[in-house]
Amino acid sequence: MGETSLDTIETIFKELRQTFDTGKTKSLSWRKRQLEQLYKMCDEQKDTLAAAANADFHRPYTETCLFDCSSVRNECNHALNNLDEWASDEKVSDIFAYATMDKYIHPEPLGVTLIIGAWNYPYLVTLTPLVGAIAAGNCAIIKPSELAPRSAAIIATMVERYLDTSCIRVVLGAVEQTQALLKGDIDKIFYTGSTTVGKIIMKAAADKLIPVTLECGGKSPVYIADDANIKNCAKRLAWGKTINCGQTCLAPDYVLCSKATEGRLIPEIVKAWQEFYTSNPLNSESYCHIVNDRHFERVKKLINKDKVTHGGQTDSNANYIAPTIMTNITADDDVMQEEIFGPLLPFVTVNNEQEAIKFINSRDKPLALYLFTTNKSLANKIIQATSSGSTCVNDIIVQVAPLGLPFGGVGASGFGAYHGKYSFDTFSHRRTVVHVPNWTEFLVAKRNPPYKTKEISF
Ligand code: NAD
Repeated sequence: MGETSLDTIETIFKELRQTFDTGKTKSLSWRKRQLEQLYKMCDEQKDTLAAAANADFHRPYTETCLFDCSSVRNECNHALNNLDEWASDEKVSDIFAYATMDKYIHPEPLGVTLIIGAWNYPYLVTLTPLVGAIAAGNCAIIKPSELAPRSAAIIATMVERYLDTSCIRVVLGAVEQTQALLKGDIDKIFYTGSTTVGKIIMKAAADKLIPVTLECGGKSPVYIADDANIKNCAKRLAWGKTINCGQTCLAPDYVLCSKATEGRLIPEIVKAWQEFYTSNPLNSESYCHIVNDRHFERVKKLINKDKVTHGGQTDSNANYIAPTIMTNITADDDVMQEEIFGPLLPFVTVNNEQEAIKFINSRDKPLALYLFTTNKSLANKIIQATSSGSTCVNDIIVQVAPLGLPFGGVGASGFGAYHGKYSFDTFSHRRTVVHVPNWTEFLVAKRNPPYKTKEISF
């Protein structure tokens, strides 16, 4: 499927607005049917979806099935199980003076919503927001990233096959198409991608005065205290750094620890990588590659050969970069100037948690902060002294999985949150409704002029 023409985009807007105005998407049976279909799509088509991502960037089948297809199915199930409750009016009690009113919060859809996705988890970052958009009763346009073109095209094909295209559409293309979408008749933007483009999206939302959710990235630090369980820490860190070849928004970006801990940790990380991918990850079907030539060159440039203590090998024919460790890194090194988004693990030496806190707080607020320690009060102390979108103690990335927790950034890593009920809320307007009975006129009459006293209260 090729790029969507600008004329088609205009037609899509008209069609979706017309459908939304009929009230079709507000019906709970429509929402449930679409969620069932989306579930089915991520179940029946998981092999096709995984094959497309594999063709795009050598992504292992298992990673697409687990991180994308299974996660979206869990979200669909959770929404289906809870939709009646989420969509019902929430009665509110209040002080005695307002006891006579019938007061409630009525969740209503926002209208025609736009979901702009990144390429790295091509189905997860487009279809998980779609669960929220559907559950809340909206029309939706998905704009997948052009950097994973086969994955983007398969989303378009499958959405046409499984979902109601009078309400849900996919637009394929790059900046030109995205700019046209941002100028269109939309009521909400849900964006996943870099902070740089996030600023462009936010300006477009400001021009229209529409709500926006920004799911961006950044450099997520890992602090490893001297008392950490080194074997567990090494395996979990090795895993979190190299799934999807480090091209994960929540990937551990860099490590802060003492020299003593670094010395015990590095051999264990190397051992874990060897177990995962053998001594030559280039030949491993379980090891993903960098998405394209531009990003390959970008990540390669961040490797400082003088500081490499493991890995460092690259192969431009396959956009392959080996799992790599660099030590004696300081805030001035190239690798610390941008989100790595690749399989490089730099070590910055800190002597204690105070130095770690100072380092973390001197930079943008990260999407995630990881702490490895067996001392819970130390973990709590660091959590109190810092800020991040989320925090996981003694593991990596798994904080994203529980459906009852909001997922989102803070500061430069974005704002707004989703997953589970938070997705429903992100795509809803919480409308206050108050019914006032007529018989209370004698009670409220004292508010009317002419005033007989200086102060009136109810
Ligand atoms: P990107 O910002 O380059 O692209 C994201 C989307 O924006 C794409 O659909 C693209 O077509 C569109 N876009 C690009 N340039 C544009 C422009 N000038 N005007 C309008 N639209 C434009 O991001 P990416 O490279 O696809 O993804 C990598 C980034 O996304 C990383 O920073 C990563 O941390 C972040 N990310 C965040 C999350 C999260 O949930 N917080 C998830 C995945 C990725």
